[in-house]
Amino acid sequence: MTLEKPTTPFAKDLVLIGGGHSHALMLRMMGMKPLEGVRVTLISDVSHAPYSGMLPGFIAGFYTYDEAHIDLRKLCQFAGVRFVFATACGLDLENKRVILEDRSPIGFDFVSINIGSTPNKVDVAGAEKFATPSKPVPNLLEKWEPIVADEKPAKAIIVGAGAGGVELSISMKKRMEPHLDVEIVHSGDEILETHNPKVSEIFREILEERGIEVHTKERVTEVREDGVVCESGTEIKGDHVFWVTNASPPKWLAESGLKTDKRGFVLVSQTLQSVTHPFVFAAGDVATIEGMPRPKSGVFAVRMAKPLWKNLQRIFADRPLLNYKPQKEFLSLIGTATGKAVASRKLLAWKSAVMWKWKDHIDRKFMRKFSDLPKMGDAADDAHGKVTKSDEGSLPEVLKELRARSQMRCLGCAAKVGSSVLSKALARIREEHGETNALSEFDAGDDAAVFTVQSGQQMVQTVDYLPALVADPYDFGRIATLHCFSDIFAMGATAHSGLVTALLPFGSDRVTEETLFQVLSGMIATLEDSGAKLFGGHTAEGDVLALGITCNGTIAPGTELKKGGIKRGQVVILTKPIGTGTLFAAEMRLEAKGRWIDNALESMLRTNRVPAGILRTHGATACTDVTGFGLIGHLLEMLKPSKVAAHFDMTALPILEGALETSAAGILSSLHTQNAVAANGIVNARNFATHEKYPLLFDPQTSGGLLASIPAENRDACLAELAAMGVDAMCVAEIGELEDADSPIVLR
Ligand SMILES: Cc1cc2nc3c(=O)[nH]c(=O)nc-3n(C[C@H](O)[C@H](O)[C@H](O)COP(=O)(O)OP(=O)(O)OC[C@H]3O[C@@H](n4cnc5c(N)ncnc54)[C@H](O)[C@@H]3O)c2cc1C
Repeated sequence: MTLEKPTTPFAKDLVLIGGGHSHALMLRMMGMKPLEGVRVTLISDVSHAPYSGMLPGFIAGFYTYDEAHIDLRKLCQFAGVRFVFATACGLDLENKRVILEDRSPIGFDFVSINIGSTPNKVDVAGAEKFATPSKPVPNLLEKWEPIVADEKPAKAIIVGAGAGGVELSISMKKRMEPHLDVEIVHSGDEILETHNPKVSEIFREILEERGIEVHTKERVTEVREDGVVCESGTEIKGDHVFWVTNASPPKWLAESGLKTDKRGFVLVSQTLQSVTHPFVFAAGDVATIEGMPRPKSGVFAVRMAKPLWKNLQRIFADRPLLNYKPQKEFLSLIGTATGKAVASRKLLAWKSAVMWKWKDHIDRKFMRKFSDLPKMGDAADDAHGKVTKSDEGSLPEVLKELRARSQMRCLGCAAKVGSSVLSKALARIREEHGETNALSEFDAGDDAAVFTVQSGQQMVQTVDYLPALVADPYDFGRIATLHCFSDIFAMGATAHSGLVTALLPFGSDRVTEETLFQVLSGMIATLEDSGAKLFGGHTAEGDVLALGITCNGTIAPGTELKKGGIKRGQVVILTKPIGTGTLFAAEMRLEAKGRWIDNALESMLRTNRVPAGILRTHGATACTDVTGFGLIGHLLEMLKPSKVAAHFDMTALPILEGALETSAAGILSSLHTQNAVAANGIVNARNFATHEKYPLLFDPQTSGGLLASIPAENRDACLAELAAMGVDAMCVAEIGELEDADSPIVLR
């Protein structure tokens, strides 16, 4: 037992739901001072969270998307926190699990909720169909962007005249002048009712100046395609209806058994813990502090970050929690969309350009916290080691035991994960996936799997091994399975079965079980789709999460697609854009935008099974999948045995969003240098050395696309069928006579 072992094991799971203002700030604090021994996971339905203070300015066109949004993926990368791109839709409080839409639940020891609120429109006929609520913001922007792009004369109706509704109205008007008319419909007696009368008066004047008509004391009872109908019978015509009324929480909070206030917001004590379930914390709009209700405002969400962080640190350290007392009065700065802002507090109402400058300064300073992340070296890594045994104790107790255990960890076969962890994870898999075919022969209990290959079929076998390149173990299970089975599909074979070796970071039994459950769950979902079964496997403790998958496939003899089958007169089709190597290298350095990674993951999570079938029906004679050696490396593997040359079209080469930026910034995968030796196989490489796409020719791909040769006359039909199935394929090369056997590629 002399091998180097990691220092701090993971003993507990903290799950954060929603990347609202409180969690975003807390993540930054965590990056500076990680929670030792705690594995933190953020579940978020967006990778870029809008900052409420700049949202109206963004709508008005004063700020760019990146200036007004917090890149949560990047922030998590900085904080050493797992980012899970998913939507929470329930809580299983008994088993301490977060229920997610379209994927397996995630277990926790403590959970914190910061999911904000959405405008309340439940009882209004037609609102669901015809009105766009101001939240979730991505949906608002999806509606708003085409209006901006169209520049057609139109009328927008804003329902609600609180600060949000008024700011949105003047911002929309400002951005779309002179094309957009705006009218406000408000059920109250006065606009901005929660502010002092002077503030209301100032905004009345501003709205009048801008030609924005305001209908007060009008309650909307129906929304139609062409406008709204009010309780009084008044009909107001309009092309777009935006809903900016009082905040409301999602129903699943109350349905999960948490005690809520009358409106359904989680009722918390001053420690920000649920009054009924102390292992649940909540902050921001979604929380109401018992006996201290406050307006639902970003100001409070921001203020709650520090007390939330302090109390989470304390609860894990087994120390008494602190009470947070939200202030009663606070200063609001409301923009006028003309370079001025109105300051509002108690009886103060002051409109001036200085106030806008101040607001702009405060907001930009706030956002710089997330864009200029301090370089922390390995601080996060140091604290996020691994280890645990008795899960029920406090964090310090469990960590103490784990540290001791970590020094005694045995290697060899004793490095296996305990059988109870494995059986619990498998039981959860069955609970989650039901009687899945993918697991049907898993539990035979024998030493090895025995299976019969259908008569007239041959076995195709391959093995691959991947350390986790994404923080979400479920997605990693899916990507690893797709990546490994891609070899089977490239051969033109049908997936049959797989065996897995899972390397799991040393941690408490509960933490390890959760990791195993998540990776296996992702694997099973993918195998199910591929028609393959998991026959067995092996687990071991390791430094990083990794999966090795042995894949079996079947094929009729003589029908396999080999690399060396390219013929003259054919064309080469590539079925996925490239760039994952540079993008994930950039993500590690906090240089990739979250949405670039979302997009790359979407591509990596696409199966090669479907395109493989289509390529075959269009006469493919050779095929491979593009992985670690990069596009040129794999193309050379095909061209050399085929004894043909490829005229490669640089213009047609599809590239993942952001990959040109990251490679231009010199951020390349650590394998890139070795892959670039393949440039020897390109006749005219020098002429293209400064081409923006050139470095990407050698970029190693994870779960990359297929590269296949088909008869040139089938190109259009094949591309059309691939496109119809949602495959982002391009024809990247034409095959010709070989002139130089060492350099069979000509770029053009
Ligand atoms: C137009 C407009 C302008 C505003 N301007 C201001 C202002 O200038 N100042 C101010 O203080 N307040 C303002 N507000 C109010 C402010 O937006 C909210 O009070 C504030 O955003 C609440 O912050 P939060 O941290 O609670 O949640 P949010 O900022 O709403 O963040 C919640 C996050 O959780 C995510 N999420 C939601 N549901 C789920 C789920 N089920 N699973 C996973 N993730 C989920 C969301 O995508 C979001 O990223 C404005 C509101 C509007 C509509």
